[in-house]
Amino acid sequence: MTSPTEQTCQTGVLSALRPLAGQHLAQLETEREERQREADRAQRELDATQRLAAERKAAQFIAWAFPNTLARALDAQAWQGYPPNSTRPGPARWACAVAYLGEGLFLHHTQRQHDNDSEEDVLTLIEPCAGPGCGAYVTTRMFSEEALCNRLTESAARLCPACTPF
Ligand SMILES: [Zn+2]
Repeated sequence: MTSPTEQTCQTGVLSALRPLAGQHLAQLETEREERQREADRAQRELDATQRLAAERKAAQFIAWAFPNTLARALDAQAWQGYPPNSTRPGPARWACAVAYLGEGLFLHHTQRQHDNDSEEDVLTLIEPCAGPGCGAYVTTRMFSEEALCNRLTESAARLCPACTPF
């Protein structure tokens, strides 16, 4: 049987320990929340930097590769950048920028990262298929300014059947 003295002592330790345990857990939780807030803030900053870089790269590529058309008609501010998303597969994981041209047409620019660390500019025209009831968006990579000009001045019914440009 425990002596009254011993019992008092044990109760004393626990009664001191329990609030300490509670305080320490609360402290750990606060620190975890602070770390998370800091990580979120850093991620937002990185996203903004990468978004801006994507917009700048798109405008630079246009100025270099499409000097007679897009560079003159499309304001550099028209680009909306998106940070890379490592959770998405394929090209969607790279940073990109999108510009609206009007009439449902968009331009999409990204820099494809190759295994040897080189980068390749990829400009894609995204247009709604004009086929009755189709509703699909068709993407065509624009390799040259001439190809873009041809595409934009084609008066033929835009795409469909089955949205195949080839
Ligand atoms: Zn179609």
